[in-house]
This record gives sequence, structure tokens and C-alpha cells, in this order.
Amino acid sequence: MTTAYDELMAFTRETEALGQVAGRLGWDQETTMPRGAAAQRAEEMGALESVLHARRMDPRVGDWLAKAEGSDDEAKAHLRHIRRDFDRASKVPADLAAELARTTSMAQGIWAEARANDDFAAFAPTLERVLDLRRQEGAALANGGDPYDALLQDYEPGATAAELDAMFGALRPRLVELRDKVLGAPAPAALSGTFDESAQMRLSRQIAKTFGYDMSRGRVDKAVHPFSSGSGNDVRITTRTNPEDPFNCIYSTIHEVGHAAYEQNIDQAYLLTPLGRGVSMGVHESQSRIYENQLGRSRAFTGWLHGQMVEAFGDFGISDPDAFYATVNRVHNGYIRTEADEVQYNLHVLLRFDLERRLIAGTLDVSDLEEAWNTRFEADFGYAVDKPSNGVLQDVHWSVGLFGYFATYSLGNVYAGCLHEALRKAVPDLDAQLAAGDTSAATGWLRDNLQLHGGLYEPREVIERACGFAPDEGPLLAYLEAKFAGIYGL
Ligand code: ZN
Repeated sequence: MTTAYDELMAFTRETEALGQVAGRLGWDQETTMPRGAAAQRAEEMGALESVLHARRMDPRVGDWLAKAEGSDDEAKAHLRHIRRDFDRASKVPADLAAELARTTSMAQGIWAEARANDDFAAFAPTLERVLDLRRQEGAALANGGDPYDALLQDYEPGATAAELDAMFGALRPRLVELRDKVLGAPAPAALSGTFDESAQMRLSRQIAKTFGYDMSRGRVDKAVHPFSSGSGNDVRITTRTNPEDPFNCIYSTIHEVGHAAYEQNIDQAYLLTPLGRGVSMGVHESQSRIYENQLGRSRAFTGWLHGQMVEAFGDFGISDPDAFYATVNRVHNGYIRTEADEVQYNLHVLLRFDLERRLIAGTLDVSDLEEAWNTRFEADFGYAVDKPSNGVLQDVHWSVGLFGYFATYSLGNVYAGCLHEALRKAVPDLDAQLAAGDTSAATGWLRDNLQLHGGLYEPREVIERACGFAPDEGPLLAYLEAKFAGIYGL
């Protein structure tokens, strides 16, 4: 006899499959789509999105959920995910959802033009509209609770602003202190010269395999912005090249490989089910960041990488592996979050987290946002923002309504710090392996203890299970302070 649970799962599996198709269309648009296809593609994506939306709202899902019972932990987890999505879709009035979709798709273009012209005032009325709609949505979802917390659930189920605020409040002063000390010390040499772009791509593909990325179920292409797309047996990444900055290509690739390996390594039994995707943005970012930073920027791994770079590019002016390690980890002033070093990256995120909470709470107006940004930036970084494209206009997120998203970047870094501490205990000779370009014990530990589970556990729970302790900011801070004290002789 087919049960309500079986019917619900069969229906959900088709929705998941269609969601994967929509994602692949998005990948295609950023990589290989002919330029003249843009308008047709927009219509194709719109058609697919409306099918997906109708399936998520389908009244049969509500009926099945009312009758279905989970017989084991996996079934219970499936039902938890499906119920959460269905409840979310049901709480938001249809006209508000439609207005949000329309406004945010238009807002992105207006933001891009305002950024190109360094004109915040040209973007402000649109941002006000997006903010207003998301505040309405947050209120509808919160049902009397805190709207910002409700928005956070889209990216990090179970997280609250209060808990993140406590974590970030403990990070900020020690990061500011560390950046002041580091920037007061003599700086390591920067990389100079030019680096063949096809050699960068060849090296990046090799490094992707070194980090366990399965090329038979993935591929690496070039795009303007690096990203990872898809789940299960078709997980693709993009990277980019800059002739003067091969680290951009190499570390973007390692970062995206962390995201992609997570998706590839989820239990095959969960394929095309709600458990077959990474469980949250924060946990996802923990994987990309531990691959990129704690492993990829370690002294041991950069020693191996140095040899690979000499092989790929010849003598590039840094012959000592210790000097190369310092160059890779060089702390530098800058306005742009995505180009920030490990010490300053989270300060960029914390600034956005505080400002967007005030925007959602209604205690900061969009008309005062640029000034609030510039004041806070100078307080944290010690110098003034020179133009809006280097400040309040630099990120796309708010234009497309992603309030609540930024926090997951720093949460991911905190989780990566915890996982790294546990990994070091589990694999005592990690450095010897990384020094030989062998990441298999590290990536295997992450696969078996975290990635395999997909959506089975709640985000914080899966981290705690892997680490064996409740996650907090302590391990990340200890790691950063020790690492940069070593490099800068503090
Ligand atoms: Zn990422």
C-alpha cells in the first residue's frame, strides 16, 4: 500500500529534480549561454520558477504532511524540511511574494548602474522598496516574533540574531586588535609579475582534484564570479583568472571545491531528496573556508603549492617557501569584502550584520545608510571609504533582498575554526600529509563526519557532532592569533 509519506516523497523528488534543472540553467547562463539568448532565458527561467512555486504551494503537500508519519530519523528529517518549506510558502501572501520577485529582479540592474556611477542616491529609493517588502515578509513569517530572526531562517535554520550578536561581539574587538598589530609590523612581499592564464586554469584543475573534487561528477569553467552549482552527481564550479593575481584563481577554486565536495559527498541514498543538499549557508561556508584557509593557506600546504607554482610558471621571484607562505597570507588594507584577508574578512561581515539588523528593525533609514556605513568602516578599519562602490554599494546582496545572509559568512568561519581544531586532533600528522600535497585524510574526515549527513541534522547539531563540542568563536580566534603572530613576528 502506498502511504501518504511515499506519495509526498515521490512528489518532492520531482520538485527537487526540477530545482536542480533550474540551478543548471543558472550555471549555463553564467558560463556558456550565447549573449543573444538572455531574454529567452529569462522567460524560460520564469516559467520553470512558476512551476516550482506552484509545486511548493500545492495543497496536496499540506494534506500529505497532515497524514504522513516518519518511521525513522531520516524520514523525520525529510518531513521536517518539507514542512518548513511548505509553512514558509503558506505564510507569505501571494501578492507580496510576486511583488518581491518583480522588485528584486529589477533592483539588481539599478544597483549595478548606481555602483558603476558611484551614486548611492540613485539606488536608495529602490533599496527602500526592497527593504520595505522584506520587512513585510519578515513580519509575516515571524508571526509576532522577531522579523530579522524569521529572515535568518532562510539561510541558517535555528540561528537567532541574539546568539550571532554574542558570537560576533566576542570576535570584533580581538580581530580589530589583531589587525592593528599586524598592520603595525613590516609587511611580507606582495606577488609581482604576470602569470599565464591557461597555466593558472591547469594548476587550478589539478588542485581541485588534490582536494578530492570528483571530476567525473563535476567540471571547472570560467565565470565573472566564482560559484558552485548543483548537488549529488552533477556539481559544477566556476573560477576566474587575472594575469597579475594567480592566488585569486587558485584560492577561488579551492573555496568553491569546498562547497562542491560537500554536495558531492552527501550520502547517495539522499539523492534528489530534501536531505541531498548542504544543510545551511553557514555549514556550507564552513566547508569552503576550511578548504581554502585552514588547509589551503597553511604553512604545510603552501610549501607544496610553492613547488607546483614554480613548475607551472617558472621562477616568479619568491624562492623561499617560508616567504611564499607569508606572501599568500599577506594582510593588506582594502575596502572590498571579497578581497579581504583572513584577519579582516569578518570585520567586513560584522559591519553588514549590524547595519542590516537596524534596517530591518526600522532604527536605521536607507537615507542614513551610506553615512552609517562610512562611519563604522572608519572605526573598524582606520581609514575612510573613498567612494560608494568601495563602500555601501559594493555587494549585490541587499539589492536582491538577501537580508540575513551576510551573517552566515562569519558563522561559517567560526564553524571552520571549530572543525579545524577537531580535525587536528583526529589527524595528528596532518601537516606532513599537506606538505606532500595529500589532503585525503583531512577531506575524508570532513566527508565522514559532516558532509555525508547532508540535511539529516540541524546545522548547529551537525557541527557539534563532528567537533565533539558546542561551537563558539574561541577556536577561530586562537587559530588566527597564533597564525598571524607567527607570520608577522608579533
Ligand atoms: Zn562560499
